[in-house]
Amino acid sequence: MRIEIVAVGTELLLGQIADTNSQWLGEHLAALGVASHFHQAVGDNQERIVLALRTALARSDGVIVCGGLGPTHDDITRDAIAEVMQVPLRRDDAVAATIRSLFESRGRRMPESNLRQAEVPEGAGLIPQSTGTAPGLVCPVGHKVVYAVPGVPYEMTEMFDRAVAPDLLRRMAGRGEASGVIASRVLRTWGLSESRLGEVLGPYIALLDEPVPATDAGPAPPGRATLAFLASGIEGMKVRITVRAADPAAAATLLDDHERAVRSVLADAAGDVVFGVDDEAIEDAVARVLLASGLTLALAESLTGGLAASRLVNVAGASGWFRGAVVSYASEVKFDVLGVPGGPVVSDAAARSMAEGARRVLGADVGLSVTGVAGPDPQDGRPPGTVFVGLARPGRPAAAVELAVPGDRARVRQYATIAALDHLRRALAADV
Ligand code: ATP
Ligand code: MG
Repeated sequence: MRIEIVAVGTELLLGQIADTNSQWLGEHLAALGVASHFHQAVGDNQERIVLALRTALARSDGVIVCGGLGPTHDDITRDAIAEVMQVPLRRDDAVAATIRSLFESRGRRMPESNLRQAEVPEGAGLIPQSTGTAPGLVCPVGHKVVYAVPGVPYEMTEMFDRAVAPDLLRRMAGRGEASGVIASRVLRTWGLSESRLGEVLGPYIALLDEPVPATDAGPAPPGRATLAFLASGIEGMKVRITVRAADPAAAATLLDDHERAVRSVLADAAGDVVFGVDDEAIEDAVARVLLASGLTLALAESLTGGLAASRLVNVAGASGWFRGAVVSYASEVKFDVLGVPGGPVVSDAAARSMAEGARRVLGADVGLSVTGVAGPDPQDGRPPGTVFVGLARPGRPAAAVELAVPGDRARVRQYATIAALDHLRRALAADV
């Protein structure tokens, strides 16, 4: 069953609000196993809403139209649906009485315009309103269906869950379609470009498209799935695995199998690049490895100016493993507070002694430091984007790595923050 979403509202077209209703509906239709190939947004104009509905009905089995059910003159979704159904609107006395009593219960007089919300295209079924004043509609058009739900997000989601989803599942069962579920999981990676990811996972993706399993080209994929790469700017690249299965438990098993396979392909080609799953951020990954190792952390930040510390304290319970940070921006602070010996402060040696200094001054097991050139001007003869990350751990000499970070000043600082946190994550994970 294919369902198309039509979001009604001129404010959507003007960019005044984002179409979060279509986003929500897309996610929830997928979870029911309902295909949704098109979304439309259309203004409060009857002719164009009619065109949008006819277009949707021509290529899909049903339509969910949201918005434009209110009481004002620009709420014309009902009129447009009646035109598409080629039927008149009729006032439903029971709906009118409900709206009237809703107003009375709030001690207010009902404006006459609210009676517009009691008008129903002849032959349409009603979805009783529970929170708002407008009922939803289930409108047959030939053997297809148009559901009308309010634009107000919490009214829309309530009505979808209560009435639209069950009705869709009934129709799918009637057509002999397995409803099933579509589920996704995101693996979050750091340090690989989109093209490198494509190169590494290319053979696995090719295998997914093949009906026959497993050659020596790679591990046999555990079942049908699709893989997509999503760039998420400074936060790395996401690999989204999407599967279709009979029920949520089967989908979870399939996702587990694919996750394992994708992780192993990535690890073989590129090392420990997966730092998290779904909504996990880099700071959550750092928290996880620190908790697993039982170590506490202190930071010495120069060009990042506290950004790394700020990321870490996003994590609830950070006080269990995070001691604090020295924002040693001026060279004298590096020398006087952290005990960095003289010499260039954008250097391997400075990064190492900053990490040692943070560890000692703040009384932590592990010290992590970031020093570098944010730009726009060079420093110590080093170009903008030069970054050193230092790491001091118990029982071994401090070490540092040098990175060349792209972008302008803001980007360099953000990127250096995440690169430093990822460096720490990988180093500690290798030890656990
Ligand atoms: P009402 O009875 O409140 O007038 P309605 O069904 O007429 O509801 P709209 O007037 O189209 O719906 O929208 C009401 C409010 O709901 C909008 O001002 C907007 O804040 C929100 N809204 C409408 N459509 C969307 C959408 N597609 N995504 C997110 N929010 C939306
Ligand atoms: Mg309205």
